[in-house]
Amino acid sequence: MQLRYTPYRLELRNPFRLAHGSRTGTDTVVVQLTANGHVGFGEASMPPYLGESTASVTAFLSRIDTAQLQLGNPVATRHYIDGLSPTDNAAKAAIEMAFIDLLAKTNGVPSRTLFGVAAAATPPTAFTIGISTLHELPEKLKQAEHFHIIKLKLGGENDEELFDDVRKLTDKPLMVDANQGWATAEYALRMIDRFAHQQVLLVEQPLPTHTDPETWHWLKERSSLPIFADESVKRLTDLPMAKDLFHGINIKLMKCTGMYEAFDMMQYARANGLKVMMGCMTESACATMAAAQLAPLADFADLDGPWLIANNPYLTPTLHEGRIVLSTTSGHGAIPLAPLHPFA
Ligand code: MG
Repeated sequence: MQLRYTPYRLELRNPFRLAHGSRTGTDTVVVQLTANGHVGFGEASMPPYLGESTASVTAFLSRIDTAQLQLGNPVATRHYIDGLSPTDNAAKAAIEMAFIDLLAKTNGVPSRTLFGVAAAATPPTAFTIGISTLHELPEKLKQAEHFHIIKLKLGGENDEELFDDVRKLTDKPLMVDANQGWATAEYALRMIDRFAHQQVLLVEQPLPTHTDPETWHWLKERSSLPIFADESVKRLTDLPMAKDLFHGINIKLMKCTGMYEAFDMMQYARANGLKVMMGCMTESACATMAAAQLAPLADFADLDGPWLIANNPYLTPTLHEGRIVLSTTSGHGAIPLAPLHPFA
């Protein structure tokens, strides 16, 4: 088995403004695993706040012993990858993603079949609109025209005004993502009450990750909208805490080390009354199509990464009625636009 990887910077179509900063691009590392005439594709996406970088991801990948990546023993392979370090979650997701793509292609099945996912229908995927001015909104909503749900990033200075502006321009259902930007539970509750009964499906990460459990619990008890954890939940080990504090969780491959753990988190969530959103970072169709393979198990999908990028190195997925169409071919269904990978 041959492992290759190279850095690739994704340029964003719109500068991405969030409660905690703004950026014009996202660094990724693209990974290819080759064996038996098949190529498995993987990707690590590194938004700066998660603490990984091109340097840390390539350092992690340089430690991979490909003899330990065993197509005949996925369980051992998963534990080998996870055991290499206590962190490096996106790097782990990238190598595991390439491994599962290769495994599915070797078996001639879509990746979801390896997880026992029979259904191919994904939930409608949300299209994200970052913190915007009124002047910018019509163009951004036009970019969202093929999507049936909008994820609106709030947590800035003028949330009520921005929300009202969006509501004047579209009647599509909204997800509100405050990205930790509301300072107190009382303020968050006021915003939630303000946005309830206005076609808002859920509110994501209203408060900072350092908020104490009692405060989260206070808000959950009073909230008229479902509260989803994003930054507060990364891995399976976070869920026993999360099940009492949130109505749902946003699972992202880059946070949770990859598809195997994402699947386990979905099972845990289902058994413990948590709703699930399958989400993504700003990432290409490679990671997004891997996540989409598990999306039939989710209640919500936020898999708009490829549509936010100007220089997508993979074919943009097909949408049907706002839902990502899963490939019936083997693997994840990500198709690279050759020759965009100058591997060293
Ligand atoms: Mg979020």
